[in-house]
This record gives sequence, structure tokens and C-alpha cells, in this order.
Amino acid sequence: MIIPFACDTVKLTSPYGNRTLNGKKQFHSGYDLVGVGSYDVVAAVGGTVVRSRIVTDKSNATWQWGNYVCIKGEDGRYYYYCHLKSRSVAQNQTVRAGDKLGVMGNTGYSFGAHLHFEVRESDGKTTLSPETVLGIPNKTGKYSTKSQYESDLELLAKRGIVLSPGYWLKRKNIDPYLTVLIHNMAEYIN
Ligand SMILES: [Zn+2]
Repeated sequence: MIIPFACDTVKLTSPYGNRTLNGKKQFHSGYDLVGVGSYDVVAAVGGTVVRSRIVTDKSNATWQWGNYVCIKGEDGRYYYYCHLKSRSVAQNQTVRAGDKLGVMGNTGYSFGAHLHFEVRESDGKTTLSPETVLGIPNKTGKYSTKSQYESDLELLAKRGIVLSPGYWLKRKNIDPYLTVLIHNMAEYIN
């Protein structure tokens, strides 16, 4: 799973496909994502920045994206990161996967801060489900690159109940009941 934020967890608030927005039926051409733990938006795939701008002229439909960054990926596809509060890359710049592109925001045609993440084929027009690239299912929900066990241990460590989460992480398989026990403890104190 690839998360285009500087954190391990993300919320998918609006999937790819047909939807109704403000009473209007439309085709949602990307994923709406919100980082959990960080609002810093990072490149999902490395490539070259072909656009980093905001269009304010409303006769150009691109105004809806607000502050956006478009990257031509090493795979030839185009990656759009829209509604940003601020951008931290410039046109023609080369970026690697994980490099910061800007900060999530609410610019353009947007109702609440989120990242509109869109993937297009090399023709620059045909969109595809971001699931293909990110591995995040095309369904509203919260997704994480961390296992439940890892998140549980982190929570218990934060509360001072587990002192060496790394130790227990490595010993995940010593007893099949360990992950259940840790999970129950985490649920109980949460
Ligand atoms: Zn969107």
C-alpha cells in the first residue's frame, strides 16, 4: 500500500467512480484522501513535475483543482495532487517517491480540506482507479500500511504499558495468542 502523505494512515472519504456531490451526479475521477497524523502530501511515484500552479480564471475548468501539482511519473502516467494549501515543488523539478509536494488544503472546488489524488494514463486524459497504483481499495474507509499489531503496540507504548514495542514486534509469532492479547489490551485502554 502506498499512502501519498507523510504518515502511515489515510482516510479515503470519496472513492473513484459515480457519485452525487451537492445534488449533482458526476463521475469522480480520483480519490479524496485525508492524512491521519500528517497533512504533508508526498509523491506516490517518482517523476518530473509538469505543473505546479493555481488557475484563478474560472473559464478554465482547471480552477477547480485550486493549488495543484501534476507529476509525469517514471511509468509514463500522470499524477495529480489537488486542492493543496501550499506547494513545495516547481515545474521541471524531479521528485522521488516520498518527496514532499505540499500541504493538504481546501483550495479550488472543495468543501473541506482533503487531497484529490488522480491518476491518468500516458495519453493525459484517460483516468484510472488510483487503487491500481496505491493499492488502497476503492471504498470509503481508513487504511494503514501498519499492521493491527504494530498500531496496538504503539498505542500501548505511548501509554507506558509496553516499554519495548520493537522487542514484541519481532516476537509476533512466539504465541498465536500474543497479538490477540495485545489487541484486547489496546482496545481496553483506548
Ligand atoms: Zn476529488
